[in-house]
Amino acid sequence: MSRFLSARFADLEAYVPGEQPQDMQYIKLNTNESPFPPAPAVREAINAVEIDRLNLYPDPEGRALREKLADHYGVKLENIFLANGSDDLLNFFFMTFCDEERPVAYPAVSYGFYPVYASLYRLPHTEVPLREDFRLEPEDYCGIGKNIVIANPNAPTGRAIGVDDIERIVRSNPDHVVMIDEAYIDFGGESCLPLVGKYDNLLVCQTFSKFRSLAGGRLGFAIGSPALIEDLDKIKYSTNSYNINRLTMAAAIATIESHEYYVNNSKRIQSNRTYTVEELEKMGFETLPSKANFVFTRCPKVDGGTLYRKLKARGVLVRHWDKPEIADWCRVTIGSRTQMDAFLERVHEIVKEAE
Ligand code: PMP
Repeated sequence: MSRFLSARFADLEAYVPGEQPQDMQYIKLNTNESPFPPAPAVREAINAVEIDRLNLYPDPEGRALREKLADHYGVKLENIFLANGSDDLLNFFFMTFCDEERPVAYPAVSYGFYPVYASLYRLPHTEVPLREDFRLEPEDYCGIGKNIVIANPNAPTGRAIGVDDIERIVRSNPDHVVMIDEAYIDFGGESCLPLVGKYDNLLVCQTFSKFRSLAGGRLGFAIGSPALIEDLDKIKYSTNSYNINRLTMAAAIATIESHEYYVNNSKRIQSNRTYTVEELEKMGFETLPSKANFVFTRCPKVDGGTLYRKLKARGVLVRHWDKPEIADWCRVTIGSRTQMDAFLERVHEIVKEAE
């Protein structure tokens, strides 16, 4: 820390992203990326013509992409806000809607960036405990009288709640913004987007990083009432008006046009998920029911930290957190069948060693 850092950030604990090793080739099952490359049309979209236009700023309104998204989701242009990844969207949510008078609530076991933003903006915040088996109880949020952010499916558990549950939460907090982070919705969950037309306090956040194989392009989007989008725009134009670059915008339009390709990939991932859970079960693992492209699992014989380290030594990266309530568990991204077989083979060796 330098002596120049603003005192208000002295206690800030920054988010620690999953490892992105640049030295050796790992089987990467640690940051929930897609194992599949972008659709062929994406490669064609980032073409010489687009590259030659990089001397020009992108459209600050991202109109062409927003129109595509509006069309795809059956909403209007003014319902859509674009950001540089959904992390950036979350930042906008906390910055735009939360303050001393409007505190924020989120699940105690969830995406690790929520507490970081709460701390960055010095917000009063409530971490709502999950129930048994990491189940999120919607009743705990009904009438809570705070802004709310919930990942659905939740991370790192993979558990999802239904649209009816979300509707109860949104309806019972009419004077607060409810942000549903649907980063993993396209792997079997039920999106609450149909509720957007009905409630002016609901903001649904999605990303191109997982289902759409574009983590490196950095693109997230929110869908909500025009008034909420206008508020987000106000802050965007006060921080970074050109927040989406040209190449990502071109790639994203081609992505939406290749929807079927991604739906097929998701089907393969969901079938690999079922397979992985079954194989882990044969080795005595307990795995939570997942609607995401990852599973949260624990081994009765090997603690989470040891499993993580031993897998890493064998060239497989998974995610583990040292927090006491989840220290037994590892989060494993579901990749291709070949990746999952390699993972399972190493797990088998590690379990055998522990016997
Ligand atoms: N929300 C959740 C629940 C996540 O797990 C992630 C991925 N780390 C994000 C948001 C952010 O993803 P991105 O910024 O790549 O869109």
